[in-house]
Amino acid sequence: MIYPWHAEIWNKLTEQIGRLPHALLLAGPEGGGKQQFALSLAARLLCEKAAGSEEACGKCPSCIWFSGGNHPDFRLIEPGGDEQEDADVDSAQGTQKKKSEQIRINQIRALDGFLGIGTHRHGFRVIVIRPAEAMNHATANSLLKALEEPSSSTLFILITNSRRRLLPTILSRCQTLSLSKPSTDEALAWLRENGTPHAEELLAHAGGMPLAALGEAGDWDRLNGFYRDLAQLEHAGPVAIAGRWESWLKENKEGESAVDKRKLVIWMQKWVFDLIMMKQSGATLFHAHKSLEVRAASSRASISTLIDCYNDLTRIRAVAQHPLNPRLFLEDMLSRYARAALSGR
Ligand SMILES: [Zn+2]
Repeated sequence: MIYPWHAEIWNKLTEQIGRLPHALLLAGPEGGGKQQFALSLAARLLCEKAAGSEEACGKCPSCIWFSGGNHPDFRLIEPGGDEQEDADVDSAQGTQKKKSEQIRINQIRALDGFLGIGTHRHGFRVIVIRPAEAMNHATANSLLKALEEPSSSTLFILITNSRRRLLPTILSRCQTLSLSKPSTDEALAWLRENGTPHAEELLAHAGGMPLAALGEAGDWDRLNGFYRDLAQLEHAGPVAIAGRWESWLKENKEGESAVDKRKLVIWMQKWVFDLIMMKQSGATLFHAHKSLEVRAASSRASISTLIDCYNDLTRIRAVAQHPLNPRLFLEDMLSRYARAALSGR
């Protein structure tokens, strides 16, 4: 499926399938559907029926293999992609290991065999790497070799949220396609078509990225609880509120969108960002629907302590996935915010 805001770029690419470069880099902010675009393009290239700007047919043998996750001419490389065996060993031993956040060099080296032989279906061979910034130097260098000696009919599709974190040598061998965010109207229309309630508010909170907004639709009640709690922080105190937020972390059920520590830090950062912005320009970026509350909260705080608080949150965010005591973690974050929020009086 191609999102409406990607239709133009899709048509352009698929009209010149015979002249595609060997490596595409899909760049753009998170939550806009880059991944879906990459997989749709891979499916289209492997499909044995589709022509021109049509999407993959979904019915031919190639499409059936692809949707079953076992097309012989397709590889998806992502963090933790080689950990199945380790995980089996770990679970047999009753231990649980944290999933890697890096793409390992062995995952790239394993491509050698795949690239060295002809394709199984005599068509394209496609490798999707996501996110490309999950490759460290050594891993990226190992990929370079494959990018330098492209075998025919092979397309690498790299996906990145952060182009500046990639090696220049990688960038120079890829053609970058910027998948920027859709217009607000386009994004809202799509969210409403999908029956998303509170589409406008969620889209603003997601910085205009429609998939991110859709992903937070299930968090709506908690997000509102979050604002209520911040408004009561002075009376309730950080300890009581940390307790309530900790209970959210425990409520997550399988399959539901999960509120985790990192997400709470990001919500907090967006909130503090808007308090700063309100002080500087009288506007908000993420909280147009809460501008009265933002105005009230920002009037009680001084800008320098808000900026300090924002920087603290950036540091806190970097360790949010570490196995820290969640209650203490949240108390610490809320105490820092409380100091900033009441600093202007
Ligand atoms: Zn097909």
